Amino acid sequence: MRKILNYKITIVARSPKDIKGVCNALSFIEKNNKSLLKKVQKINGVLIRSIHSYDNELILPEKIWVCGTGTVRESSVSYLASLLIHESVHCIKYEQGSLNKNFRDEPVAYRAQIMFLKKYGEKREYLYVTKLLKEKYWKKNFISISKNENIKSTNNLYNYYKKYTSFFH
Ligand SMILES: [Zn+2]
Repeated sequence: MRKILNYKITIVARSPKDIKGVCNALSFIEKNNKSLLKKVQKINGVLIRSIHSYDNELILPEKIWVCGTGTVRESSVSYLASLLIHESVHCIKYEQGSLNKNFRDEPVAYRAQIMFLKKYGEKREYLYVTKLLKEKYWKKNFISISKNENIKSTNNLYNYYKKYTSFFH
């Protein structure tokens, strides 16, 4: 695994290409909106799993975002940047004492992501995330796959993080 520090965020991945992807997204945020970068810096680290997957999880209280190569490699720079914005809202909400019970923070996280895409992203990305918010995607996603599947996926991401905890200290 490789580790680099970029904008005070620790990025860990097997492939330099994946690290570069996250760095590009951070540069994109900095270039467009410096005050948003400050918020994104609430995320302490990004850990990219070597497997192709779109599963992702924000590990708290550590504020490490664990995601798969699918997310990093197949997202445009602006879309990956918007995902970081989304997760940074969860970090800020967590600092304010919210545990995101019943996904109550999702609308505000999605709205921040949508605002970013509206200004800096591609129109289809903006429309896509707007649709996710309208459909309350987080609820649908949670119910549609069986509960066990969802817990299994979350556990996998936590276990994966545990393996690489030392990279973030
Ligand atoms: Zn969220």
